[in-house]
Amino acid sequence: MSLFTLFGIFALFIILGIILLYKNQRLKEFNDRIASLNLSLEEMDEQAKLIMRTDMELNKAQEELDKKISGLDTLQRLSREISTTLEEQQIFKKINNQYVEELGFERSLAFLWKNLEREFHLYLSIGYTHDESLQIKTAVNANRDYFLGLIKNGSAISSEILPEGNLSKNTFNQLFLVHSFIICPVLAQEGDQGFIFVGTQNTEASITKGDQEFISILANQIGQTLDNARLFEKTWRSQQELEIKVEERTRQLTQALEEVKKISKRKSDFISSVSHEIRTPLTSIKGYAAILLASKLGNLPDEIKSRLEKINRHSDELVHMVNDLLDISRIESGKVVIKKEPLDLKAVAEKIDDLFSEQFKTKNITFGSDIPDDCREVLADHSQIDRVFINLVGNAFKFTPENGRIGINARRTGKIIQIDIKDSGFGIPEDAQESIFEEFFRVDNTINQEVKGTGLGLALVKHIIEAHQGKIWVKSKVGEGSTFSFTLNAV
Ligand code: ADP
Repeated sequence: MSLFTLFGIFALFIILGIILLYKNQRLKEFNDRIASLNLSLEEMDEQAKLIMRTDMELNKAQEELDKKISGLDTLQRLSREISTTLEEQQIFKKINNQYVEELGFERSLAFLWKNLEREFHLYLSIGYTHDESLQIKTAVNANRDYFLGLIKNGSAISSEILPEGNLSKNTFNQLFLVHSFIICPVLAQEGDQGFIFVGTQNTEASITKGDQEFISILANQIGQTLDNARLFEKTWRSQQELEIKVEERTRQLTQALEEVKKISKRKSDFISSVSHEIRTPLTSIKGYAAILLASKLGNLPDEIKSRLEKINRHSDELVHMVNDLLDISRIESGKVVIKKEPLDLKAVAEKIDDLFSEQFKTKNITFGSDIPDDCREVLADHSQIDRVFINLVGNAFKFTPENGRIGINARRTGKIIQIDIKDSGFGIPEDAQESIFEEFFRVDNTINQEVKGTGLGLALVKHIIEAHQGKIWVKSKVGEGSTFSFTLNAV
């Protein structure tokens, strides 16, 4: 073997060595890459799992959200129906199986505690047969203390969350024939309280916190509606009672009014016939007195004459009184027809001044009237209103001392004219002011012992004004004077 060949083999080994080294290097690099790829793959797998988990959670959350939205929608519809109900029995009838199913249950019950009977009454039963309902009712009443405690406690319980001190889940399941359930107290402010129960036999179903919240809202709504219904019932009852009372009172008053009318008519008839009976002999007394006074039966001594004059004067007074009485009874019984015509108040005031001027002079009384133009014309029966003025001014004159003042004023408010007859006389005590318009009433004082009168003038005046649809009243102060005011319609 030549040196050249040896060298060649040596070089080949070296080259092979280099190639091997290079390959090894590449293999290592390759392995490293595979390891890092494996790592990435694992990481990706983890992330994929995370994404799947998140997706599942999101789906679950979405499902819960959908359930909540549909539950809220059901609750809203149910609440609207319940809240418009004003009858206790009807409130529970609004909760039908469709609503219960929409809330995720197929069985429901509602009980209210009746304190008088000391037992729970069943107000709602959905998903149970008649016998089952009765059986549950008996069982609930057998455990009344537990359920009363639950109501007192005020918070809802469910098969998922059963705080300590409650019956076991099994007992509940046997009692209400369900797998899962919620019981929530119905707390009304007044009257009977109770609880509502919803449950399902579905073993897959699980009660969420959201379900419990919904049933609590529903129970709350029922409680409030029960309060409203009871308040309405109470108000309605008291209104009915009031109506019955008002009816009864009205009937009594109508009866009393009829009675008063009858008595009043009898009185008017009596006064009228008595007055007529008195008037006839009075006229003849007056006639005979006049004949005697006229000396038609021979001259009479002065003493007899003065007595006859007295008879004549007193007869006049009696005739006057009888006429007033007859007028009052005629107006009261509606026999007098009020003939309303335009009447000039200024002219009336002047006529009164004329009529009384001589009398005013005897006591040095100043008379004045103020009738503005817009108050001049009223609608009234001339002769009747003349009597009103004569009576009122006559009284003013009678009860005003010397050097006093009497005035007639008028003022207008819309279609109403108010006429005031004012004097600076003795005045009327406050406690007598109401009574002076009553027949035969005269203030019991020394002045009236001196001043003559019958107590009929103001009663007649009041009747005349009222027959004109007007009003009359007095304002007076003892020692300062009186103002009699009445109203009439303007033309
Ligand atoms: P009479 O004047 O005939 O007594 P009236 O019915 O006219 O009857 O009056 C009733 C009573 O009212 C009078 O007795 C008198 O006491 C009181 N009275 C009426 N008008 C006045 C007046 N202007 N001032 C004071 N008292 C009056």
